[in-house]
Amino acid sequence: MPTFQTTLITCQQCGRRIMVRAVDAERGSITCSHIGCGAVNNLQTAFQYDEAIVNGLPDFGQLHYLGTPETAYPLQFGPNIIGTGEGCTVRVGRFEHGGRCYISRQHCTLTITFDKWTGQLRYRVQDGAIGPDSLTMRPSLNGTLLNGAPLQKTEIIDVGDGDVITLGGADRFRLTHATINLVMLDTYKIDLAFNPDRTQ
Ligand SMILES: [Zn+2]
Repeated sequence: MPTFQTTLITCQQCGRRIMVRAVDAERGSITCSHIGCGAVNNLQTAFQYDEAIVNGLPDFGQLHYLGTPETAYPLQFGPNIIGTGEGCTVRVGRFEHGGRCYISRQHCTLTITFDKWTGQLRYRVQDGAIGPDSLTMRPSLNGTLLNGAPLQKTEIIDVGDGDVITLGGADRFRLTHATINLVMLDTYKIDLAFNPDRTQ
């Protein structure tokens, strides 16, 4: 059963507060209980998903290196710093091309969040990373591309399932999203009741 968060709304006739319970939300209306009012207030219902679902997910997707050797790197919820450096969440190999590696020690940041409205994970990439010694984003030396298009220094872009991130112009990685089981998702549904006059 989805959970329901008890909400207070403002009566459209008398302006006093009324408590909305799950049964009222199901019916789609609530009768004001204040003495001398009794107005019928219509309710709009909407729902969100509880972010606690992420604690029960087995994985958060992978980045697959498309060069040699083909490698799969698991991702974490939250920011994933990708690079060749020691402190990286996703520490990739020092892949060389003509004796040079084009990936920075902290090259880009792939952030995974949970969208409470869609119940899906959201993946966003940004060139550079916040280093251990600074509070600002430091761009990579050779840039990051998403599906072949270079990211601007301050851009944060959504990365779709199967999209390709290229680091330093030479090394390509394909993102595989994690999928959330729909039966499991349904158990994390939270119904919200809204008073139509209080749209925000
Ligand atoms: Zn009332």
